[in-house]
Amino acid sequence: MDLLQYLTVKNIDFLSKREDVIPYIRDASYFTGELPIAVVLPKNENEISEILTKCYEENIKVVARGGGTSLTGSSISLKGSVVISMLRLNRILEFSGGDRYVHVQAGVRIDDLNSYLQSKGFLYPPDPASSLASTVGGTISTNAGGLRGTYYGSTKEWILGLGIVLADGRIIRTGGKILKRSAGYDLTSLFVGAEGTLGIIFDAYLKIVPRIENFTRIMVFFRKAEDMGKAIYQIKERGLNPLSAEFTDKISMNIISRISGIPVPDGSEVLLIIDIPILSGNEYEKFIQIIKNSNPTGIKSLNAEESEVVYKARKGLYSSLLNEREREGEYIIIGDVVVPSSEVPEALNETRDLIEKFGLKISLFGHIGDGNIHANVFTNINSNEEMKKAEKFLEEFGDIALRHNGSVSAEHGIGFEKKELLIREFIYKKSIVNMEIMKSIKKILDPKNILNPGKVFDL
Ligand SMILES: Cc1cc2nc3c(=O)[nH]c(=O)nc-3n(C[C@H](O)[C@H](O)[C@H](O)COP(=O)(O)OP(=O)(O)OC[C@H]3O[C@@H](n4cnc5c(N)ncnc54)[C@H](O)[C@@H]3O)c2cc1C
Repeated sequence: MDLLQYLTVKNIDFLSKREDVIPYIRDASYFTGELPIAVVLPKNENEISEILTKCYEENIKVVARGGGTSLTGSSISLKGSVVISMLRLNRILEFSGGDRYVHVQAGVRIDDLNSYLQSKGFLYPPDPASSLASTVGGTISTNAGGLRGTYYGSTKEWILGLGIVLADGRIIRTGGKILKRSAGYDLTSLFVGAEGTLGIIFDAYLKIVPRIENFTRIMVFFRKAEDMGKAIYQIKERGLNPLSAEFTDKISMNIISRISGIPVPDGSEVLLIIDIPILSGNEYEKFIQIIKNSNPTGIKSLNAEESEVVYKARKGLYSSLLNEREREGEYIIIGDVVVPSSEVPEALNETRDLIEKFGLKISLFGHIGDGNIHANVFTNINSNEEMKKAEKFLEEFGDIALRHNGSVSAEHGIGFEKKELLIREFIYKKSIVNMEIMKSIKKILDPKNILNPGKVFDL
């Protein structure tokens, strides 16, 4: 029985017409995949298990798909593959404020989860700018970060347990409702950041926290990125902790100014948007004092309405930059490096020099509170010459991160795009054996290499 007959017999919903499956050859990256045989729409883990059992038997490639917002090509379909869309697994199963967890299906979108939790006074902290569309399963599989990362860390900090269907259809559970456990290998962690190469996550126990409602959002403008980087480091060095600290260069700063109507003070090249939690008496004054001593060109404290507009403008920056494209074939390839906070000022200086050297149109922004810098490179993806230049820039951008004790991928994962950079990082750290270990794990969990093959690394 072929796959489509099997799905019909098993009463599993699927799409197979060309016009229905073609959208799945793209995600939010510039990569284009190839047509899948079918896009399946399972309603529960048993259906996922049945699909994988069949695909395993027949050596059919399987690509899990959440919101499809990957920026590295990790969720694009592969030739002759089956795409498993997780969007029907969208239920919140259980909530316990006292036990500090929420149990959800993998297709729940991050914003939907937080709307639900907000009504209960709680928060699931991971907050990628794509939270409107990205899902619990996708964000776990890329170990997503986001705007609140500086205060709360990235997704890996918030996963208590997972339900997973393995490549051969077996269903396993790791972790669970408890906040701590010391019971053997931490299998949960293995699936965080695995980009659908080790199993399909169907549900998750997520750690939650009470919401911090009392904070002030300010915009700080600087002449030099270095001053902004130093201010963040000093804030953290003094034991203060911003809820979020986002920076942008001039191109992105002007977009936020245009959307919010908030003018940019003369001479400003860099913008920092910082959320200051008001947890105790003079916290705000301490933050402001450090900022005032960092040569700002202007400081603007936002009222509730401005605060909301600026936050949305920041979250929408990538899409706004896409609107700044001027040429046929132009797309944005986004670099995503991270360095320790102490290294941010120098890393930003070197990045500025690199942009000058390459002469490319690039806009920088990032979750600078945790050292994360994004370089948005405008490139004509149909031009080999331009693509080579952009790739070379991103390689050298990655090298800046490595020289400053950082990583070539902070939060977007590896996908298709960063396979070479990942190897480069392991070589730089004199630990290429990491790659061998990853491949060995892959061979144990997916011996036929059917799960998202060719993403993260080539076997
Ligand atoms: C405008 C924009 C802003 C962004 N901002 C941020 C940001 O601030 N921070 C950040 O970290 N990222 C950001 N991203 C990148 C992207 O949103 C994240 O990588 C996100 O985690 C992907 O989630 P998704 O549900 O869309 O996953 P998808 O793109 O569908 O999939 C991502 C990977 O996870 C795998 N996968 C998906 N679901 C499952 C599952 N249930 N089980 C196993 N594997 C699965 C896929 O096979 C793929 O390898 C942004 C993207 C866009 C377009």
